[in-house]
Amino acid sequence: MKAAVATKDHKVAIVDKTLRPLRHGEALLDMECCGVCHTDLHVKNADYGDKTGVILGHEGIGIVKEVGPGVTSLKVGDRASVAWFFKGCGHCEYCVSGNETLCRSVENAGYTVDGGMAEECIVVADYAVKVPEGLGSAEASSITCAGVTTYKGVKVSGIKPGQWIALYGAGGLGNLAMQYAKNVFNAKVIVVDVVDGQLELAKSMGADMTINSRNEDAAKIIQEKCGGAHAAVVTAVAKAAFDSAVNSVRAGGRVVAIGLPPDAMSLSIPRLVFDGIQVVGSLVGTREDLAEAFQFGAEGKVVPKVTMRPLEDINDIFDEMEQGKIRGRMVIDFGSKAA
Ligand SMILES: [Zn+2]
Ligand SMILES: [Zn+2]
Repeated sequence: MKAAVATKDHKVAIVDKTLRPLRHGEALLDMECCGVCHTDLHVKNADYGDKTGVILGHEGIGIVKEVGPGVTSLKVGDRASVAWFFKGCGHCEYCVSGNETLCRSVENAGYTVDGGMAEECIVVADYAVKVPEGLGSAEASSITCAGVTTYKGVKVSGIKPGQWIALYGAGGLGNLAMQYAKNVFNAKVIVVDVVDGQLELAKSMGADMTINSRNEDAAKIIQEKCGGAHAAVVTAVAKAAFDSAVNSVRAGGRVVAIGLPPDAMSLSIPRLVFDGIQVVGSLVGTREDLAEAFQFGAEGKVVPKVTMRPLEDINDIFDEMEQGKIRGRMVIDFGSKAA
């Protein structure tokens, strides 16, 4: 079967691979599609260490073709996901307390184990989340990473219906965060970005307020217009966005970090203490988070923007990504059938 594999010179080769037989608890997926994420770009560029030979992809959706011994959670014909959170140990303090993505022996698809950017993929059945009916596979692939990450981020922010949430970053992740915040959590949404086009899109999709932080002091406006946001979620990959987010929330507000700029952020300790500000990081989502994020997609509350592309385009897609040309999600089509 064909697979997209990271090479030594930081490219992707399409190679023919034969998968090993299934072990206890595993299932074989006939892949329908797999989204291309910024994290794949980092993996193939060896930003997280040399991963030559690994099959990329952690936004995969496929149909179960075969199950190994002991599998009870999936059956042949089920549609299931290949996610970044591929498997936890199942017994550590994180795995048993609803924080399985923090498991210290976690395995990640398309990084520590072969991922879903291939015609076939082996998954651990109990960790592959089923896709509900009514959700297209391409949309589901996007929810498997970007969707669940933003859904979880908004969930972690503790936002309640009618409250103000400031979303820093209106790109692919930010757009999904907005849909979850607005359509699932019923929050009032402020979108902050430096690109007018992204802000216009956010506005057209229901943002209550948009601010271009290139020209204006977003935190100041948010404090003036609504007394500070109850929470902020930062998907932007810029230190300035984090600094502004901390200043945008009201006393007792919470800032959730999702974007990953390689810097340190500026935090005023008196501000943290006197105003009781909380700053927390949020990493992808658990299996339960993904099941919930899928369900809201199936109900039409959240609609990811996706473009199907052939596997042969993979190096072009990464070039486009590096040039910042991509809008929405590029999804590799392995011959999707179900909807
Ligand atoms: Zn991803
Ligand atoms: Zn664990």
